[in-house]
Amino acid sequence: MKKNILLVHTGGTISMQINNETGSVTTSDSNPIMGLSSNLEKYANIIEVEAFNLPSPHITPYEMLQLKNLLVESIKANQVDGVVITHGTDTLEETAYFLDLTTNYDLPIVITGAMRSSNELGADGVYNLVEAVRVACSEDARKKGVLVVMNDEIHQAFNITKTSTSSVNTFQSPQYGPIGLITKKLVHIHQSPIKRRYVEVNSLEKRVAMLKVYAGMEGDLLESIFQLKYDGVVLEGLGQGNVPPKVVDGIQKLIEAKIPVVLVSRCFNGIAEPVYGYHGGGKMLEDLGVIFATGISGQKARLKLLIGLNQVNSPVDLKEFFN
Ligand code: ASP
Repeated sequence: MKKNILLVHTGGTISMQINNETGSVTTSDSNPIMGLSSNLEKYANIIEVEAFNLPSPHITPYEMLQLKNLLVESIKANQVDGVVITHGTDTLEETAYFLDLTTNYDLPIVITGAMRSSNELGADGVYNLVEAVRVACSEDARKKGVLVVMNDEIHQAFNITKTSTSSVNTFQSPQYGPIGLITKKLVHIHQSPIKRRYVEVNSLEKRVAMLKVYAGMEGDLLESIFQLKYDGVVLEGLGQGNVPPKVVDGIQKLIEAKIPVVLVSRCFNGIAEPVYGYHGGGKMLEDLGVIFATGISGQKARLKLLIGLNQVNSPVDLKEFFN
């Protein structure tokens, strides 16, 4: 029997067109990815909704929360076997991770996009959409958390990242690779997450900043986090999880002011850990109260901290939450 797939559009290049005279790629009044059910009917019954039509740099955690609420309402109101979301690729990994943390379904939730707009030579949007629908129909895609499908590969939300500005194989999972492949005949998934973390979130009042650490960095930018009254900060630290000595005082000041400081590594493979004991080394930072985020990128740690800080009714232990 054909499955019922909820298809939610949010915008991005998959919904854009190139102007062949100016060469610029933009949104148009009617979304070219809408109403393609004839390509999809072979695989599933489609319930199609347009949530937004935004370039993904315009998507904020607020839209992510709206999207989460839309999924919850639509799944409640309809007989839904799987969800496919189309999204701009620039912030796709962030929306995928946000939904991964804040939804708790067994049914597949698959996000896809395109690197070439709908009327460009070699447009990849419809192709990726069909593959995403096929994955959303697969029994093997259940209980996998939010998945990203692009360019014949299936990736998990916590690990996926955009690695190329323009290539159709831009999405990669550093360290671990894709959890599955899509061929002409098969959706082949070979890995499952060991554990998933679900947190309920209903509002996003707090603000979290992120800074990339670099050789010779001084403490003034951390001072500004304090002055601008951010509620938390994520630092993309060096190597195993270290910072230059002049950054330490700023970190200490933030922690004393009860502004959580979360550390990831700016290396995209491996896990930040408190190893080095020198001034600015990870061990010293841990002793100061810095929280190490295990194995996620800065942009995902930022969303996780934002979600963690917004658990106002039943506050989470941030250290445990990140571990
Ligand atoms: N700038 C576009 C966006 O994220 C890129 C894309 O969709 O591929 O909206």
